[in-house]
Amino acid sequence: MLARSPLVFRLALGPELHLWAKAGRTPVLWWRDDDAREPTPALERLLDLSRRHDAPLTVAAVAGPNLASLVRRCQDQPDIEIAVHGFQHVNRQPEGQGFGEIIDSDSVDWVLAQLRATVTRFHDAGATPTLFVPPWNNLKPQLITALSDTPIRAVSGFAQGVSEADGVSRLDAHLDVLRWKGGARFRGTWRFLARMRKLLAQRRVTGQWGQPIGLLTHHLDHDEDAWRFLDSFLGAFRVEARRCLQLQTLAEPTALCA
Ligand SMILES: [Zn+2]
Repeated sequence: MLARSPLVFRLALGPELHLWAKAGRTPVLWWRDDDAREPTPALERLLDLSRRHDAPLTVAAVAGPNLASLVRRCQDQPDIEIAVHGFQHVNRQPEGQGFGEIIDSDSVDWVLAQLRATVTRFHDAGATPTLFVPPWNNLKPQLITALSDTPIRAVSGFAQGVSEADGVSRLDAHLDVLRWKGGARFRGTWRFLARMRKLLAQRRVTGQWGQPIGLLTHHLDHDEDAWRFLDSFLGAFRVEARRCLQLQTLAEPTALCA
């Protein structure tokens, strides 16, 4: 799998992937990119990466004034899925309590009304999304409850390891190409690959071979190092389409669809 990859890939992941190969397994990867609002040069660069590497991509989009042109651009290219990235991507958390669009005092009814209005905006723009990606990966219980009354079938947050069951279909991202503290910048090749090795080992040890590992990108925030690394990474690993990952509550193992 890594035969033609940079040496650092082989050093960081070779021994772990050897164990996977001995068991006849291949890691299941998918790719989510956040914060798209409109076609931009950075979005073109992202779509170009997806096309060149034949890598399906889920674009988590914010419903703004240019949503329809974003949807049209993404639909021009095969294997691009549009997901809903929040209602307006506005932080409503009280000062000093992190970031999130849904706060503890919000009712399920209020969340449901926001969800329905947002999904309608996507439908009006020509997209029929089935995945919701809360901004800042803020998965509140009210959101999970409200989702069952909408066309959204799954949520995606950010997990440190194998995700916990929470009663809805969930497909998380795990590997952020950026680090954020002190300003967005490339995480660093070794840090990224070390985390990937850990995620692979967790799945191997627990027998959850098919549990997807989510690559997370934010095309508007990439520096050149992040773009370059992504190019190498997507050259080394095959990425599955999110819609082809069989979504189940995570009490059960996840498997690939045909
Ligand atoms: Zn976001």
